[in-house]
Amino acid sequence: IPTLRLDRLLANLGYGSRKEVQGLIQSGRVVLDGEAERDPDQRVYVKADLAQRMTVAGVPLDPPPGLLVLMLNKPLGVTCSHKEQGALVYSLLPDRWRRRDPAISTVGRLDKETSGLLLMTDDGALLHRIISPKSHVPKRYHVVLDRPLAGNEAAILGAGTLMLEGEDKPLLPVAMEVLGPKEAFVVLDEGRYHQVRRMFAALGNHVTALHRDRVGALDLPADLEPGAYRLLGEAEIATIF
Ligand code: URA
Repeated sequence: IPTLRLDRLLANLGYGSRKEVQGLIQSGRVVLDGEAERDPDQRVYVKADLAQRMTVAGVPLDPPPGLLVLMLNKPLGVTCSHKEQGALVYSLLPDRWRRRDPAISTVGRLDKETSGLLLMTDDGALLHRIISPKSHVPKRYHVVLDRPLAGNEAAILGAGTLMLEGEDKPLLPVAMEVLGPKEAFVVLDEGRYHQVRRMFAALGNHVTALHRDRVGALDLPADLEPGAYRLLGEAEIATIF
């Protein structure tokens, strides 16, 4: 288990500059296991349970560095990338979390006009495990279409032969469940750029609404409002794989 000096820990979590957090610590506002820890040089183990054992100004510590995993119900109109115009998903998190080191990043991306389950983490190894092309974590999308389904889409998607415009490798098979004339679930084991929209374009249709509701076996909870997020514990993280 890695250790960090207390002042470094708090600075890395965005509580302030090294100087500012030294002030917090020396004034007795950082409490570990019920006792004020006034030594900024004290080394602490960076473990998930620190968030239960430490308070800062009376408030439980944020998830320790490298151990934050959350799910966000991404609303329409916010972006996952600094390269796009518009509000970023990071603006939906507490201000302090934007100053964390390591930084929080999205686990893959959803389009600006896609809603639903978006994972975010500062754990680089976990990020890689989920988005690596080799990992094939299934992702389920609810799709609403402009035109009625023709009836052959599930067979074409399931065959694993569909080529997207401008690509030279066919898509992996996609499972599709028809929900209505213009509505379906699709389950993707990969994540190519704008994949669902381009897939239905290749089938002669057009996606008018797109919502992700499941990653691995992790479902977007019905009570998680658009724009709201929830931290994940180890058990929930395990359901992703
Ligand atoms: N496929 C898309 O086209 N957009 C998304 O946001 C996700 C999958």
